[in-house]
Amino acid sequence: MISENCAYCGDMTDMPFHCNYCKDPFCSEHRLPEEHRCVKLTLIRAKKFGKSQVIRDDSINKENVFKRFFRKFKG
Ligand SMILES: [Zn+2]
Ligand SMILES: [Zn+2]
Repeated sequence: MISENCAYCGDMTDMPFHCNYCKDPFCSEHRLPEEHRCVKLTLIRAKKFGKSQVIRDDSINKENVFKRFFRKFKG
């Protein structure tokens, strides 16, 4: 049996858990990506939430408002 140190807290553990995403060894407390601030966590979240369509729509709306305001101002 190979004991390893948790890459997050440094505790020695006889049964290290390896993260599916960053492949580092962790203790039972820090095995979840959320618990060890996984370097891949942002990638996991990006996959879950998909593309930023809402932000795109918002920018289009702002443009329209600006154009309307500009027309009004011009007369
Ligand atoms: Zn740990
Ligand atoms: Zn990880």
